Amino acid sequence: MAKKRDYYTVLGVERAANQEEIKKAYRKMAMKYHPDRNPGNKEAENKFKEAAEAYEVLHDDDKRRRYDQYGHEGVTGSMGAGGNSFSSFEDIFSHFADIFGNGGGSIFDGVFGGMGGSPFGQGVKAGASLKCRVNITFEESAAGVTKTIDLRRNEHCSACNGNGAAAGSKPRSCPHCGGRGQVYHSQGFFSVSQTCPNCQGRGKVIDKPCTVCHGSGREAKTVRIRVNIPAGIEDGTRLRVPDEGEPSDSGGPRGDLFCYIFVQEHDFFARQGDDVICQIPITFAQAALGTELEVPTLKNKARVTIPPGTQSGQVFRLRGIGFKRLRDRTEGDQIVQVIVETPKKLNSRQQELFRELASLEDKYVSPQRKGFLDRCKNLFSDNKE
Ligand SMILES: [Zn+2]
Ligand SMILES: [Zn+2]
Repeated sequence: MAKKRDYYTVLGVERAANQEEIKKAYRKMAMKYHPDRNPGNKEAENKFKEAAEAYEVLHDDDKRRRYDQYGHEGVTGSMGAGGNSFSSFEDIFSHFADIFGNGGGSIFDGVFGGMGGSPFGQGVKAGASLKCRVNITFEESAAGVTKTIDLRRNEHCSACNGNGAAAGSKPRSCPHCGGRGQVYHSQGFFSVSQTCPNCQGRGKVIDKPCTVCHGSGREAKTVRIRVNIPAGIEDGTRLRVPDEGEPSDSGGPRGDLFCYIFVQEHDFFARQGDDVICQIPITFAQAALGTELEVPTLKNKARVTIPPGTQSGQVFRLRGIGFKRLRDRTEGDQIVQVIVETPKKLNSRQQELFRELASLEDKYVSPQRKGFLDRCKNLFSDNKE
């Protein structure tokens, strides 16, 4: 885990900064690195979490005092085991609702919309995002592939066009919350918002529900979606397919679909970073005398020269034929490891030759073996003393 940065540096404020300055600095960071503005950007995500963590400590006088005195050590107790105190964005959002929240819903309604609106306008929310799992083969992960998936998701009910009201009627604005979906209570200095109990946050009430969807405005459908999976994708990668989530109930954009890619294991190849690795068994004679090997690769095959005197476990690197790097479209390597196999069954002729070889070995001892024998000699003489 990377070393934690100084919280004042994270927020870009002086050590003597007052609460107002700290709050302002955090708001600026949160807006800049908000995940909705930086989709799929891991660095922004980390910055966003880092800023939330810094703010969590610095806006609390007691935690800030401990941090000033003892540094990160002083506040780790409250932050969990050396980690980020926030496990998810939802955590961050809910935690800081009161800071930003003059509006309903997430803190960012307040941040982006100014007067309690959302990024898409007053009371408008994007549809729900969906998750799915996509299995691909090792070869497909290397070459890239387009997969067709059948996705079960909610669509707007076709009988009522998603408004949930029976034919000939219309939903009306909720009188309890004035259509905002949220109600506000004053508690001392704070104004606390709460989901409207009359309309469950929808902002609308339906007098005569649609007979097809019973007022939900939804209808489950199976849709066929094509997902382009780029070459070089790694096992466990989350791929975002924009606008293939569920539709919005309030006229906002659809949610996204997040595909989690699972790569099956391969019998022969394995992946290590952007390199393809494989093991090739060779005979004792091939290792001793050298040979040319034909090795399967991701696309075809390649020749590898095994020099005389190759040891078991030695690796040979074939440059530029590994996995595509998603960042710069360069490629990793293929690493071939040779394993020298000791023969298990010998015919009489082979036995004869090995015996002849063995009789020669007494006279021609290899340098490595000589060193080993010398060490053994010392070992035995030590024991005698
Ligand atoms: Zn209401
Ligand atoms: Zn309906």
